[in-house]
Order: sequence, then C-alpha cells, then structure tokens
Amino acid sequence: MKTTYIEQNSKSILHKIDNPRLPFNWGANPYRGCLHSCIYCYARYTHRYLDLDPESDFETTIIIKKNAAQILRKELSNPKWIKELVNLGSICDPYQPIERKYQITREMLKEFSRYKVPFTIATKSNLISRDIDIIAEMSKDTYVDVVISISSINDQIRKQIEPRATSTQGRLKLAEELSSFGINVGILLMPIIPFLNDSDEDLEELFSEISKVKPKYVIPGIMYLTSSPKKRFLEFIEMVYPKLLSNFKDYYKGRSPPKSYKESLYKKLMKLRQKYNLHEYKSSYTNTSSNNQSKLDSWF
Ligand code: SF4
Repeated sequence: MKTTYIEQNSKSILHKIDNPRLPFNWGANPYRGCLHSCIYCYARYTHRYLDLDPESDFETTIIIKKNAAQILRKELSNPKWIKELVNLGSICDPYQPIERKYQITREMLKEFSRYKVPFTIATKSNLISRDIDIIAEMSKDTYVDVVISISSINDQIRKQIEPRATSTQGRLKLAEELSSFGINVGILLMPIIPFLNDSDEDLEELFSEISKVKPKYVIPGIMYLTSSPKKRFLEFIEMVYPKLLSNFKDYYKGRSPPKSYKESLYKKLMKLRQKYNLHEYKSSYTNTSSNNQSKLDSWF
C-alpha cells in the first residue's frame, strides 16, 4: 500500500471540541489521516473535508501540518488564551510513523511546555517514549495525562484490526515505562468488539496484564461504527471471518450492538475492574470554563 504525504501550512491549530463526555474542550492535530490503519477508526470521516475518500484515503494520503508548532506558539501566546486542557491528536495518532522524521508532535510539546499548557495525549505507538524527557519534566508542574489505547490481548487479532500500531505487549511495557518517570498514565481499553475480542478469557487476561502495569485508570469502551468505518469493517469481516458476517450485520444495524449485549458486557467489565483494583477516570484537572464531567467509568 503506497502512502502519499502532503506537506501543508495551517492557519490555525487549536480547535474547539464540544463533547460533554470528554474532559477537554480543545484539540490540536499535527497530522490529518493516520498510517496505523485501524479497521474501526472513527476519525476516517475527517478526510471527507479534504475531498478525499474516508475509507480508502485515510491511511494512504496523510497531511503533514509543517508549521503546526509555530502556529501553536502564536495561539498559546495570545493573552486571550485561557490555558484550558488541550487534547493533542484528536483525529490522528500524533505518534504515527511519520512523526519519527518530522517531529512535529515533539515541537508542539515544547510549546505546551513553554506556556505550561495542560494537555492529554492518546497513542498506540511506543514512539512516544522518545519524548519522555519533555513529558516527564512537564508532569512536575502541569497537568499531563498520557492515554495508551489497547484493544486486545490476542496479538493476532490486534494485528488484524490495528495493523501498524505497536503490539499489545509493547503498549503495556510502554505504559509501565512512562509511569516509572512519574507520568500520569491511563489505559483506554477499546474498542471491545463483539465476537472478536470480548471472550471472558481474553478480557480476564487483558485486565490481569493491565493491572500489572498499575495505570492511574482504565476506561473500557465498546466499538461504535459510524458509516465510514462500518463499510470497511464489514468488508474486513467478510474477508477474514466470513462466518461472523451475519452476526455483525445483525449487531450493527445501528452504530452500536443491542442494549442487552452492552448491559451484560458493562457488568462484566465493572466486575473485572473491581477484581483487579483498577480505577475509573477521575480528572484532577479543574481549571475549565465548562462543566465537562471529570469522571468517566466507561465508553458505552
Ligand atoms: S491510531 Fe487512532 S487515529 Fe490512527 S487509525 Fe487508529 S484509531 Fe484511527
């Protein structure tokens, strides 16, 4: 699969996020599109705004915001900026492979550090360990939250659904490494996909492994499928797990599985979280002008 990278200059970087379930009101993205190519990726729709195909172009045409750090500096130095919590990488993984070359995420972190702006960052890549120096230093006096996203304990399934991201074991090690530097680390345990990674045995093992790296919190979440990933996801199931196709078509008539399935999964996950003494997300960040909830027990 050939990937085209397009360098662009952006006029603005910080953008408002209006989702009462999320603990942040602002997002910033170094890239558009993502080489990690997760089969369920909800962010695919954003390629539509570039007149690109969300299903086929999201991982093959990647926009590099070359001047992102300079623009961010301008925005953060504006006296009107009120230092709210910013999520770095809301529609891409800021540590996808091209970051190794361009280092735009690293330069953006330097700007957050310069202005002591609290931030959250979510990734499926161990490239983030390159920036431990900045993140650990910032963690001493500013709110910083690193979220490692993990979907399956079975690396065979992980390779199928997140083909270019770091392995599950690699991400667990990464969480441990970041914590050892005093960085606040949480785990997003998602997406849990019916029939694929939701067996009792797999979930038990996953919780057990996660508990060993002692994250500050775990947020489990079910797979939601909006229209652009749904088509692609069903094509993948048809090709790799053809016997499951009718089950998925039945479960995903809408965006999520039936209520009865979700309720029983939720109960199971809450029990596991209790058994392994893992906590729900509780933000200690309070300097926000909105009433976003600072507690999140799951993404259902
Ligand atoms: S890492 Fe995140 S943004 Fe990238 S493809 Fe996967 S789900 Fe989408």
